Parts: sequence; structure tokens; C-alpha cells
Amino acid sequence: MATATDSRVLEVLGRVFGYDAFRGDQADIIRQVCDGGDALVLMPTGGGKSLCYQIPSIVRPGTGVVVSPLIALMQDQVEALEQLGVRAAFLNSTQSPDERRAVEGALLAGELDLLYLAPERLPVAAGLLDRAEIALFAIDEAHCVAQWGHDFRPDYLQLGLLHERWPDVPRIALTATATSQTRVEIAERLGLTEAPMFVSSFDRPNIQYRIAPKQDAKAQLLRLITQEHPGEAGIVYCLSRNSVERTAEWLTAQGIAALPYHAGLDAATRATNQARFLREDGIVMTATIAFGMGIDKPDVRFVAHLDLPKSIEGYYQETGRAGRDGLPSTAWLAYGLQDVVQQRRMIEDGEGDAQRKRAQSMHLDAMLALCETITCRRQQLLRYFGQESEPCGNCDTCLEPPESWDGTVPAQKLLSTIVRLGQRRQSFGAGHIIDILRGKETPRMQQRGHDELSTFGIGTDLGDTEWRGIVRQMLAQRLLESVGEYGVLGLTDGSREVLRGERTVLLRREPERRAGAAGVSRR
Ligand code: ADP
Ligand code: ZN
Repeated sequence: MATATDSRVLEVLGRVFGYDAFRGDQADIIRQVCDGGDALVLMPTGGGKSLCYQIPSIVRPGTGVVVSPLIALMQDQVEALEQLGVRAAFLNSTQSPDERRAVEGALLAGELDLLYLAPERLPVAAGLLDRAEIALFAIDEAHCVAQWGHDFRPDYLQLGLLHERWPDVPRIALTATATSQTRVEIAERLGLTEAPMFVSSFDRPNIQYRIAPKQDAKAQLLRLITQEHPGEAGIVYCLSRNSVERTAEWLTAQGIAALPYHAGLDAATRATNQARFLREDGIVMTATIAFGMGIDKPDVRFVAHLDLPKSIEGYYQETGRAGRDGLPSTAWLAYGLQDVVQQRRMIEDGEGDAQRKRAQSMHLDAMLALCETITCRRQQLLRYFGQESEPCGNCDTCLEPPESWDGTVPAQKLLSTIVRLGQRRQSFGAGHIIDILRGKETPRMQQRGHDELSTFGIGTDLGDTEWRGIVRQMLAQRLLESVGEYGVLGLTDGSREVLRGERTVLLRREPERRAGAAGVSRR
């Protein structure tokens, strides 16, 4: 490539963006696109994907068209660019016809460096784009095109046609989340199989990953905040709006500066809370996953999950909001039996066809395997993204290696109980089955005659918590199945192997309940 472009690119990096060097693969990617080539870019959140298409858009003649699903962020991105003196605009459904006409006029007059477009606007805007000079197409959040991914958007499928309609315009697809399977799908669906792929390291060495069994989640969270991150900024993710509200109220009552954020709050409240989180020190944002996309706050010291994320991609993206400044940060997750039951039920009851549900189920399995692993969490996380690494020394399993134990006998006791109940055409959730094993003489037990089962009281050697841990791990390993609204336990092919003595059940020994510790601490 011409050195003239190289120096032009560096000049833009410094003059417009105020940086003096590229990071990682940025220089190679930008050179590739400036030269008119396609690229598929896999870079973790915070890695610096935006510059990879912003600079070529500025340097190449015409307007760079950025397809992004995050309408809510377009305005912020455009404003940030305008402040740098870049001529940027967006087109989406939130605008009035007048506003849209003004943007279209600017585009046709060649007065825009960048135009952000929601994918659903593309069919409407195609005629307009035909008449404009286009520098490149950037496809942001490219994993949205993958049906096996965790964030599929049907509108993305048509992006495969960009190349046919505008064969001479280079395309750059970017994503922060892609397993090798998703990568292949992205490349195929977008017609980028020939394009060079730029894969950055997904490791975030300054983030300490910890996953703890859920006991008293709020108390565990409070210990994490007060003992390890007092007065520091953090994000607490909860699954439902309701639990967001309750957690924020509870934290506030404990003297923590906590604010709620979820899609059910009115726009003004959301904007205020977000602005306070960004500007003030030490705010703990309690939020659903609606919060965080595009939030660029460098000093988030911890990300806590009170509920199980639906996929490793989601977990990685959410925890990735911690420690963008490179300083030590914590990713902490509490999860319990109920989470597994609830997530399975959500998949079962959710929308989508059988294939979709199977994909969701596989995502959950991978997430559960990460939770139950007895080896390095980071190693497993990175392997999921196709990256091999050594044990990290900065995750809970490295710092305090869990023991594994042979849980085949208790597993068989539990499964036999389910078999016995099944012979009576009955099924129950974990609570009652554990009561049977532990020989609890409750009225319900006698009423049903369960105290006469041959497995009644054969599990008194283990406590309630231990049994719940066994059920949870067996669910995670698919040695048990939780069905229906009440989380009734059922058998799988795997359970039958265990019952026949053909399979050993290796379980992770739960760490002792240690006073005062929310898991391993940095000190
Ligand atoms: P991503 O989209 O991959 O999550 P961004 O493009 O938002 O990441 O970049 C993350 C942060 O890193 C931003 O604050 C950005 O300004 C900064 N950044 C990107 N490239 C560079 C660079 N070459 N030098 C310094 N900072 C950079
Ligand atoms: Zn590790």
C-alpha cells in the first residue's frame, strides 16, 4: 500500500482522535480496508473496534456506512464523533421525516464521513445509497447475523446482499463475541469467507473471574462491595426488573450508593442514572443486561452477577465492562440450583422453534460447565473463544483449587428416588426429593407415604446444601433434567448410565462457607 495512505492514517489518528499509536491489529485492519479490501474483525469489548472503520471512513473518499443494531447508542456515537470534528449522522426510526431528509441531503452532497444505519432501514435506504458515494460498509455487532449465536437479529440476514448490490465497496464486519462456530457462520452469511480474519486476544488479564455457589446472594454481594471494593464503581446484573429494583433499594439501605437501570424505567430516569454512573465516583449500577452496551467507563472495578447469564458470550461481554483501564478488577457471579431450573424453564417456555431452543440450551450448558469447572476459569473461557492458554493464577479455581470427589453413590441414591417416585407416577422438585433422602418426617411425607420408600433416609450423611449442590451439578452435567414450571426432576440418558453403574459422577467439592468471604479475595 502507498506510504501516503499510511501517513494520512497516522495523521488522522493523532489529529482527530488524539492517539499516537495503534493498538493490536488496528493498523493492519485499517490498512486492509483503506486499500479497499474486506475484513472480519474479532476483538474483545474495549479493544478498539470503532477506529477500525472510523479512520478508513474518513480517509477514503465518500461516506462510511455503519450498520449497527443499537439505535439507542447511535446518537451518542454521532455526538462523540461530532465533538472530534468528524462529520457524522444517523438514520433510524426515532427521527422525524424532516430530520431524515436533512441527513439524506448531507449524504448526497458528500458532506458526511460516517452514516450510522439501523439494519431494518437498509431496504428503505438502498435507493439513497445508490446515489451516494460509499467509502465502506461496516457491520457492527456482526454476530447478530448468526442464528446459532446468542443475539440473532433477522434484519441482519439481508446484509449478505450488500456485496451483490455494491460489489466495489469494501466491507468490514466486527464483533466482540464469536466462537469458532459463530465465526464460520458470520463469514458465510455475510459472504466474507475469502476475507482475512483478524482475531485479537480475548484475554482480559486484569479481571479476576470468580463464580461462587449462591447462599445468601445479597449478603455475599454486600461483602464483595464493602470488603473488596468500598466506594468503587461497579455494575450488578440481575435478571428481572423487579430484582433490579429490590437489589438497588436494599444496597441503598445498606449505605451503598446504588442506582437502578432497566428498560422499564422512564427515559429521563435512565438517562439521569446513567449520567450519574459515568460522572460520579463509586456508583453501583444495579441493572438488567439492557445496561452497558456502549458504556465506556474505564474505572468500573467490579461486575457482579446475581443471576446466571444465558451464555458465555453474554457473561464475557458483561464482565468485560470491568477494568477497561487495565487495573485489577473483579468479575463475580453467584449461582445456585434455582438459576439452573429457572433458565431451563425460560428456554422451554420461550419463543422460537426447536432449533432455536436447542441452540439456547447449548449456550446454557456451556455457561454451566464454566460455573462447575474445577480447572482454570480463564482457560475455559478463552478456549470457548478458540484461544488456548495456560492456567492464569488470577481466578478462583487457580487461587483456591477446588477438589473433586466421586459422587457416584449419592447420585445413584438421588436417581433411584426419582425412579421409585416415577413407578408411582409421581414427580417432584429438588426440595422434596432431598427431604426424602434426608429422611425428613414432614406431614407431607407421611400423607404421600414417601417415608415408606426404600430410599427414605438413605442420604443423611450429607447436608441440605450439599445435596442441593449435587442436584445443581448433575443438572449442569445433564445427569438430571428439570422439567416444567415447578422444576420437577426427571431422568436423562446420562442418568440411566449412572444408575446402571456405567458412569462415574465427578463432582466439585463446594468450598466451605467461610465467615466474611465472598469467595477468594485478592489479598
Ligand atoms: P470496542 O468497540 O472494541 O468495544 P472502542 O472502539 O469503543 O472499543 O474503544 C475502546 C476505548 O479504547 C475507547 O475509549 C477508545 O477511544 C480507546 N482506543 C481505541 N483505540 C485506541 C488507541 N489506538 N489508542 C488509545 N486508545 C484507543
Ligand atoms: Zn485461572
